[in-house]
Amino acid sequence: MSLFTFKGGIHPPYEKELAKGSPIQTAGLPKSLTIPLVQHIGAPCAPVVEAGDVVKKGQLLGKGESFVSAPVHASASGKVKRIEKSLHPLGQPVLSVVLEPDGNEETAYMTPMGGDPGTLDPEAVKARVKDAGIVGLGGATFPAHVKFSPPKDKPIDTFILNGCECEPYLTADHRTMLERTDDMLLGAKMIGRILNVRRIIVAVENNKKDAIETCKKSAHAEGVEFSVTATKYPQGGEKMLIKAVLGREVPSGGLPMDVGVVVSNVGTAVAVCEAVRDGKPLIERVLTVTGNAAKSPGNWLVKIGTPIGEVVEQAGGTTGTVGKLIIGGPMMGIAQSSFEVPVIKGTSGILLLREEAYMKEGYLPCIKCSFCVQVCPTRLLPSRLSVLAEAEAWEKMEEYGVNDCIECGSCAYVCPSKRPIVQLVKAAKIKVREIKKRENA
Ligand code: SF4
Ligand code: SF4
Repeated sequence: MSLFTFKGGIHPPYEKELAKGSPIQTAGLPKSLTIPLVQHIGAPCAPVVEAGDVVKKGQLLGKGESFVSAPVHASASGKVKRIEKSLHPLGQPVLSVVLEPDGNEETAYMTPMGGDPGTLDPEAVKARVKDAGIVGLGGATFPAHVKFSPPKDKPIDTFILNGCECEPYLTADHRTMLERTDDMLLGAKMIGRILNVRRIIVAVENNKKDAIETCKKSAHAEGVEFSVTATKYPQGGEKMLIKAVLGREVPSGGLPMDVGVVVSNVGTAVAVCEAVRDGKPLIERVLTVTGNAAKSPGNWLVKIGTPIGEVVEQAGGTTGTVGKLIIGGPMMGIAQSSFEVPVIKGTSGILLLREEAYMKEGYLPCIKCSFCVQVCPTRLLPSRLSVLAEAEAWEKMEEYGVNDCIECGSCAYVCPSKRPIVQLVKAAKIKVREIKKRENA
């Protein structure tokens, strides 16, 4: 079998054995849900409920006026206790709806539209994706209806369903492909209908043999193509995946639609299927609880708004002292200081690491070994970018393509000086954006 891949990248310890054999379990109802009104890239939502309101599961809680936004819904029936700023996994406190579940689980879903992609109106399906608050579940949280609305001069011919899950430790997508195969493929066909594509391709890394076996047969029966890629980080990055599967190069500063492609995560396709066929908004997601400090690593279907501490408890708790708590994977995830932060739409994993599992010492000057240059999948000069960031040479960084950095962390992973290249680049991107904004004001 020939394997598709890209230039650069790394082979970190994958540690997927911890959780990949664990079937998806459904987490119980917590005592309280904290549902942030920002869980996506784009304009925040404004609340449409008030403290004291009684809501049903799936009822709208907040919506944004802008096209680039995604509404949020109640993940359980119950009473709105408060609307207040609360902890958020991305850092800054965010206005959130605090809900006390009543255990009735009475639903207020949208009207089911049917499950035959061939008979569905593409515009109505896209509107449903928007109303259901679906965002990219791979972690990017870009509103899906926006991604599915390319301008007329950017025709899309191929939709790639991304099942690579190249982040170490995480196995939620792997289990989704195994256990929700039919819904995933149905969702992919619905997305294909919106985009009017000729080809739908499921792409999976070759370290998921059982998922490949299961999905391949069903995919072929549905007229969906299948592509097995090499296991390499960050194979699941959109630009890397398009290069590996189709041989097309997304231009610097460009997007997949510039080469006629849209890429979505497998969980997103399941969410689309449920929204269209069943009328269910995005109110829960599959995530992995894992790491060497997790007592019983596994995969869980969790209601949005559940405190991560409750998920960890339900998953069996921890072993010893947790030295590091990360939302997402070790490469692109975000370290947390509290178990109180809620699960949001973009939470792909809860990673619990013992203290000895990560480095704590500081970093050293660049020794110009070029290891980072060799692994950068977007062919940047990470060493140069990090030095320019330290010198606050923001404009120069733009010339060196800082905005093409996908923040994969491969450079920092191989750096013998342990330089925090990604943090420096992330901060620089914000500065570059601010400068641009000022210039265009
Ligand atoms: S510079 Fe950016 S894209 Fe390149 S390896 Fe580092 S984090 Fe990844
Ligand atoms: S890997 Fe680290 S030390 Fe080596 S060139 Fe890159 S930034 Fe410098």
